[in-house]
Amino acid sequence: LDIKSQVTFDYGNGKTQMLRKWSRANRIIKHRLVPHALILMYHRVEALENDPHLLAVTPENFASHLEVIQQYASPISLAELTQAIRKGRVPHRAVAITFDDGYTDNLYKAKPLLERFCIPATVFVTASQMGGRQEFWWDELDRLLLQPGRLPPKLRLGFNGNIREWNLSDAVKYTQADYKCDKTWHIEQDGAPTARQRIFRELFDWLFNLPERAKHTLLDDLREWAGVEATARPTHKTMNSEELILLTETNLVNVGAHTMTHPVLATLSVGEQRSEIQQSRKHLESILKTPVTSFAFPHGSNNAETISILGESGFVCACNSHPEPVWRNADPFQLPRVGVRNLDKETFTHWFKWWMNG
Ligand SMILES: [Zn+2]
Repeated sequence: LDIKSQVTFDYGNGKTQMLRKWSRANRIIKHRLVPHALILMYHRVEALENDPHLLAVTPENFASHLEVIQQYASPISLAELTQAIRKGRVPHRAVAITFDDGYTDNLYKAKPLLERFCIPATVFVTASQMGGRQEFWWDELDRLLLQPGRLPPKLRLGFNGNIREWNLSDAVKYTQADYKCDKTWHIEQDGAPTARQRIFRELFDWLFNLPERAKHTLLDDLREWAGVEATARPTHKTMNSEELILLTETNLVNVGAHTMTHPVLATLSVGEQRSEIQQSRKHLESILKTPVTSFAFPHGSNNAETISILGESGFVCACNSHPEPVWRNADPFQLPRVGVRNLDKETFTHWFKWWMNG
């Protein structure tokens, strides 16, 4: 009786556990038996001191990732994968590597490693940012707020009548020791060690959806308030035209478009979207003298208009940022991608096998 009542009592929990086991088993069966590929999304290969947006993988870890990919999967270019999908096939265990945004480390740090392992990759370049004197807006927030030094005690920023104010309180003075102490903090973490990280997160959320013009105005004001120049740090530069040509010269690395200014596409009018998409393609093709036919949505954002513009502009595929494997029936204009963090070899192996085998 005791046992029976216990069984009844545990029924609810047991059921969810059984369901969980069943869906896990389902996932394993599907991943082992149904052909699927994986598209990996990287941004940077660089040993950064602080990386509040979690965009960088160290060269050492990236080399380990490539070694593991070569050992357990079949590296393939995004173009080949797209061709296969368009024919209704997916090469089982195929893995395509992509990079977003166009940082110089893609050429100087990632490319030599890709060559060492002979693994192809596609780099999605934000065209108007190429070789820019200024950093990307999200990096600029790090440079202006999270680096050691002194800042004025009060920050007041406004755009279109929307005025916002912050108090730096105990974080006016930010010493090298403070910085060292907080440098592993990132935006996805709960809480913030000082007012600087709190303001950084709030500014990021505010700027994210604002039009490009507004972002520039606010960053100009922020720079003036901080009393620093707009010059990009050597570690945060983007490739210029010559560097982009060097990147693609051995044909192992391919370039795709990533708009002109990295906007949240779904918030733009059809006309604005069209110009962002078509101008970026034209700009990259004029540099590389070769067709640019792949695209990645900045911040993963897109809508039905985005897809029809891509189709009419001669693109053959587009990548989003949904972390999913690529199955046979995948839409070439909504290719899912799995973002890769700065994982060491052991952790990456475990993570990668989970994606490949379920
Ligand atoms: Zn991007």
